[in-house]
Amino acid sequence: MTDVKQARVVIAGGSAAGMSTATALRRRGHDGPITVLSAERHLPYDRPPLSKQYQTHGWELDRLLLLPADRLAGLELDIRPGVAAESADLAAGVVRDDAGAHHPYDHLVIATGLAPRGLPTLDGLPVLQLRTLEDAGRLRAALRPGAHVAVIGAGFIGLECAATARSLGAEVTVVEPVADPLANRLGADTAARLRSLHAGQGVRLRTGVTVGAGARLAGGRTRLTLSDTSTVDADVVLVAVGAAPCVDWLHNTGIDVSDGVLCDAYSRVRERVWAVGDIARWHHRGYDELIRIEHRTNATEQGQHVAAGIHGELRPYRPLPFFWTDHYDVRLQMAGRYTPAAVETHVDVPGRDDAFLKLFHADGDLRAVLAWNAPKQLVPYRRELLARLDDDRVTA
Ligand SMILES: Cc1cc2nc3c(=O)[nH]c(=O)nc-3n(C[C@H](O)[C@H](O)[C@H](O)COP(=O)(O)OP(=O)(O)OC[C@H]3O[C@@H](n4cnc5c(N)ncnc54)[C@H](O)[C@@H]3O)c2cc1C
Repeated sequence: MTDVKQARVVIAGGSAAGMSTATALRRRGHDGPITVLSAERHLPYDRPPLSKQYQTHGWELDRLLLLPADRLAGLELDIRPGVAAESADLAAGVVRDDAGAHHPYDHLVIATGLAPRGLPTLDGLPVLQLRTLEDAGRLRAALRPGAHVAVIGAGFIGLECAATARSLGAEVTVVEPVADPLANRLGADTAARLRSLHAGQGVRLRTGVTVGAGARLAGGRTRLTLSDTSTVDADVVLVAVGAAPCVDWLHNTGIDVSDGVLCDAYSRVRERVWAVGDIARWHHRGYDELIRIEHRTNATEQGQHVAAGIHGELRPYRPLPFFWTDHYDVRLQMAGRYTPAAVETHVDVPGRDDAFLKLFHADGDLRAVLAWNAPKQLVPYRRELLARLDDDRVTA
């Protein structure tokens, strides 16, 4: 291959990370064929609104699309909705899809993301999960005023859905084994404020208990029996207990898929094989740690980074982690790498009692910043964190 811009690229997974890679390649002048195998039958769409505006504001697919149809067409991708990668032969440089077609590549980009974990104790019961547009449609149909919704799992998606369900007039109980959910992600004080916010909106939070069993009741309700022997009767049960990397198709490749797809510091799995987005686990040289980020901003940034890598611009991938999450009228944003050992400083936003920042320091250095309804105030700290990573880059 003389010109990298003529290379045949196969991208498995046509969502945020895969499409970011494809778009960035074309923006960089890539002329070679780009095939996108996308297990979902829709044009590529975005997931964050599925727990928010899709539920509360009636957004439809046209508002979720990652690219408007005309811009997508302009990219001249060979995009295959509804076609999954079934296996890969890395030595031969070929991906086989589930329709039996073979896709030879010069570069393979693994972008198959995550699928929700189930709860074996509820096998056979009509529970909902939330990852895809179809999942979101089922949830939307079920969220009626007065319906009793049991959300299992008080992570970001579970609590966002609790907020959404409450704002649509449903009764909500959240069941969570951890006593102080999200404290390990947001710090104890902010996590407690988030729980108070939900409680103030009428969400019943049952923490420190697990779901032991479920049973179908007459009339279609489901009874959950909790570890403290109490019960919750629900019209709708949403299981939101995390998601697992979609790596089945990579078995027999020799790739380490023990927690996502293991990459080197450049997001490279092997020569000419890369991983991007929620599925990628790589050595982040800025933190000197193996890291996997399940947040939207990383999907875009890592896709762009890998597009550059495919074109021979090899740099360690050392992003500043960033995410947001919405609950009622509160937007939380976090930049940097929070660790529970960090020292937390509360910063008020003058004149606002509905907004604050938290600064997290370790060894005297700023490591992470959280903003509660304070997007503007976050900006300088985010810049400072980015500059610190950039400084470190010199010695990487
Ligand atoms: C409901 C919801 C709300 C969210 N809200 C936020 C938020 O507020 N803020 C935030 O920062 N992040 C949020 N996220 C996370 C964010 O959406 C993800 O980080 C992002 O979607 C990751 O993109 P990805 O392309 O890596 O993976 P995915 O989005 O998981 O996409 C992977 C794609 O690959 C497909 N696929 C799987 N296996 C195969 C195969 N064998 N062959 C071909 N295709 C395959 C899948 O069907 C899927 O379409 C949210 C996620 C969800 C589900």
